[in-house]
Amino acid sequence: MASVSRIDVRRELDRLASMPVRSAAQARMRREAAAMIAAEHLVEAAASFRFVDLDSCEDGQLRAGGKILYAPRLIPEEGRLTALACGTATIGDALERRVSALFAERRPALALALDDLGNQLLFEVSRRLQDRMLGHALKRNLTMAGELRAGDPGLDLSYQPVVVQLADGAAIGVGVSAGLALTPLKSMATVMGAGVDLPPAAWSRCDECPSSQKCKLARPQAATALQQPGAP
Ligand code: SF4
Repeated sequence: MASVSRIDVRRELDRLASMPVRSAAQARMRREAAAMIAAEHLVEAAASFRFVDLDSCEDGQLRAGGKILYAPRLIPEEGRLTALACGTATIGDALERRVSALFAERRPALALALDDLGNQLLFEVSRRLQDRMLGHALKRNLTMAGELRAGDPGLDLSYQPVVVQLADGAAIGVGVSAGLALTPLKSMATVMGAGVDLPPAAWSRCDECPSSQKCKLARPQAATALQQPGAP
């Protein structure tokens, strides 16, 4: 059964609203966007995850829960992979609808500030999801290593529906469009390896990302964060 939870992001919203930005105008837009999120209840954050026992693992094909993922990167060189830890999180669709409305009203600066805050809130929710998944693993004396999202090098985008189904995305309203995008758009879905004595992954999903040089969220090694609850 999936572990499903609503996530309160008020504290993160307050912190993000007062974070330094490049100009006074941007700071004003950011505060206005944060106030809009709070007043109009534009964020309904939720997360769902499930550890799905591995049925078999052969030639890079991982079978679990009646599904197959081709993800050889998740197969560790040491230790024993016993499950796929699949999770999904969302901040809902109200914020993206409000962003579209602001563009239609020709208020692009506020629309962009709102969209940016939404992305950062989704990142915070994703981090909380990972912390919960790690806590779940620790209670069962499992280790977790590696993280992939469909579309990353190492996990074809066509596996997006499989990851969402294994994580029971439907329980929090997360689905996949015909074009394999997550719905709502401000959602994420991830799969990690879980097992016994897994070594930290020597790779990160950020390694080959073209945005890694300028991305503020880039991580040199995903496993580092996965072993420290609360780490960015
Ligand atoms: S570098 Fe940034 S954009 Fe690229 S995968 Fe990592 S977190 Fe995502």
